[in-house]
Amino acid sequence: MWQWLLSWRQTSGAARPISSISQLEVLLSFGVAAATFESRLSHIGWIWHLKALNAQAAGARAAIIVDTRDSSSKPFGGTLQADTPAVSIPVVGCSLSSFSKLLTGVCLSSFSHGPLDVTFRVKVDSSLDQVSTSDIIVDYPAMNFTASPIPNSTIVIGSHLDSVPQGPGINDNGSGSSMNLALATLLADNAVATSVTFRFAWWGGEEEGLLGSDRYAHVLNSSHHVDAVLFNLNFDMVASPNYAMMVYNGSDPSAPAGSDRIADLFVSKLKRRNLPYSFTEFDGRSDYGPFLDLGIPAGGLFTGAEEIKTVEDRDKFGGLANAAYDPCYHQFCCVRSAWHPRSCDDFGNINLEALEQSLMVTADIIDYFSVADVVSWLRP
Ligand SMILES: [Zn+2]
Repeated sequence: MWQWLLSWRQTSGAARPISSISQLEVLLSFGVAAATFESRLSHIGWIWHLKALNAQAAGARAAIIVDTRDSSSKPFGGTLQADTPAVSIPVVGCSLSSFSKLLTGVCLSSFSHGPLDVTFRVKVDSSLDQVSTSDIIVDYPAMNFTASPIPNSTIVIGSHLDSVPQGPGINDNGSGSSMNLALATLLADNAVATSVTFRFAWWGGEEEGLLGSDRYAHVLNSSHHVDAVLFNLNFDMVASPNYAMMVYNGSDPSAPAGSDRIADLFVSKLKRRNLPYSFTEFDGRSDYGPFLDLGIPAGGLFTGAEEIKTVEDRDKFGGLANAAYDPCYHQFCCVRSAWHPRSCDDFGNINLEALEQSLMVTADIIDYFSVADVVSWLRP
C-alpha cells in the first residue's frame, strides 16, 4: 500500500472548464511548478508508462491520469511496464466524470479567480505479483523439393496471444492469432515447398509491454542469431469492426532497410485484389518493435483501434465516419454505439470481410516468399 500527499495548482488564471481538459495534468507538491504534458499520444494503455515517467521526471509524487475520452464513470486502467527507467511513483487512473466530481465545488467556481491550491490525498492499494508468460513458436521448415533450403533464412510471422485484463481480446488479438493459425494450417495441409523457414510465433505478454517478443529478440541477440531472421511480419488487430486496411509504413526513414520493400509488397498484393489500403505509423508499438530494435526489417497489416475513422477513410473503406475503428478496443463490455449497440468485444466485434482480406493478402505474400529468392529480394 502506498499513501502519498499531493497538491494541485492551477498555474494559469485563465478560466477553463473541466470538460475541456485535454492534457495530462500532473499534480505536484513541494513547490514544484505544475507541469502539463500534451496528450496527443494515443490513450492506449501502455502509453501510461510514458506519461507516468514524464510526471516522475518533473518531480511529481504521484500522478492521476484522466480519461478525457469518455464522460462516463467506467473504470479506466493502463500498463506501467516493468521497463527501464521504472516508474516509482504511484499512478492512478480516473474517469473524466469522477475527476470532475473531485473538483466540483472545490475548484470550479474558483477557476476564473487566479491560482488556487488544492490538496489531494491519493491512497493506492496495490500488490506486486510475479507471473510467468509463454510464447508458442512453431516452425514450418524450409522444404524446397527442387533446391537446397537457404541456410538460416527464417521469416518470423507473429501475433500476440494475450489480451488486456479489461476485455477478452477477440479482435485484439484473437483476430491476428487465429489468422496466423489458419496460415500455418494452410501451409501444412498443402505441404507447400519453400526454401525459407516460416516461424509462427504467438507471443505472450504483449499488452504488458511486448514481453514475449522482447524476450525472443533478446535470446536472438545473445545467441548471435539475429542474421538468421530475414524479417518479421506482425498481425495485431486485423478484423476491426469499422476497419481500414492499413499497411505498416516501412518507408519511414528510421525503419530498418528492407521494411520499405515489405510494405511495397503488401501494397502490390492489395492492389492486385483491387482492395483499398492506407498506411499506419511504423512506430514499433506492437511485437515487431523488438525486431526493429535489432535492425531486423518488419511489416504487417493493421485495421485500426480506438482512433476515429475519418470521412476520407469512410469513403475508401465503407463503415462509419467519426466512429472508432474498434469501439470495443480494450473495453470492459457493453459500449453502446451506433456501430455495435448491445455487447462489446465478442465474436460480433470481428469484421469477417476485414479478416478475409487480411488473410488472403497475407497468404499471397507467403506464397510469394515460398517461391521467390527472398534474400536477393530483400537485399538487392
Ligand atoms: Zn494488440
